[in-house]
Amino acid sequence: MKSVLITGANRGLGLGMVKYLTKHNKAETIFATCRKESEELKQLSHENKNLHILNLDVANTGNYGEISSQISGVVGSIGLNLLINNAGISTKFTKLNLVKTEQLLDNLTINTIAPIMLTKTLLPLLKQAAEANKDQPFGVRRAAVINMSSILGSIAQNDQGGFYPYRCSKAALNAATKSMSIDLKKDQILVASMHPGWVRTDMGGKNAPLDVDTSIAGIFATVERLGEADTGRFLQYDGSELPW
Ligand code: NDP
Repeated sequence: MKSVLITGANRGLGLGMVKYLTKHNKAETIFATCRKESEELKQLSHENKNLHILNLDVANTGNYGEISSQISGVVGSIGLNLLINNAGISTKFTKLNLVKTEQLLDNLTINTIAPIMLTKTLLPLLKQAAEANKDQPFGVRRAAVINMSSILGSIAQNDQGGFYPYRCSKAALNAATKSMSIDLKKDQILVASMHPGWVRTDMGGKNAPLDVDTSIAGIFATVERLGEADTGRFLQYDGSELPW
């Protein structure tokens, strides 16, 4: 890939993606966005001159234009190949009798509205990449958007209830993935929802069965294989399909 942008790249899965891409030399240019850079991310940017850290609170949609200009300044007219909408939040302990309006709004803002609005803002750059990489097959080497979803956003697999803010925000993100995949197919841009597995991060907690490296290696092995038939699918890190 020529260029990749990852939101929420200072810790957890986002940081894991940056580490993976730099270690395996998978992208010529990497944009890691975060609210506050971590020591680890800063260290990686010192070691890898192709890693650009951009300051972005995804809740501030008004700043997206500035991010787009900064990316353009680096990639020029060849655009952005891959956008990974990774930044996310999860409100815990949200049974129906306890759920608060604010929690629902916060989860929707970060997990649903931000990925939609950022994709909208960066669409001209994704289109440029699709055009500039005409010799490449439909997929991440041309242009793609991966929305980090969750199995908790699956309506079909919900047999536990609860988690209103998170479940609703990820189910809505899945709906957005489907619409984007249809709307952007003519522009040769692939769009898919990805469940990373249950992973040991701040969000996943200590009891999660997967470590970050296993999840991330699976995600990229899967993402690199995706073609035209895969746009609009809901997949998990190991490539298996999940029900909406
Ligand atoms: P973490 O809680 O470990 O990290 C979340 C990341 O999102 C951090 O970088 C955080 O930055 C960032 N973020 C949150 N709010 C904002 C904001 N307003 N602006 C910019 N960045 C923000 O979570 P994970 O790494 O585990 O999760 C990554 C993605 O994977 C999420 O979308 C999550 O829903 C999804 N996922 C994770 C699973 C798991 O088991 N871990 C399972 C299923 C899905 P900051 O440090 O500034 O808060």
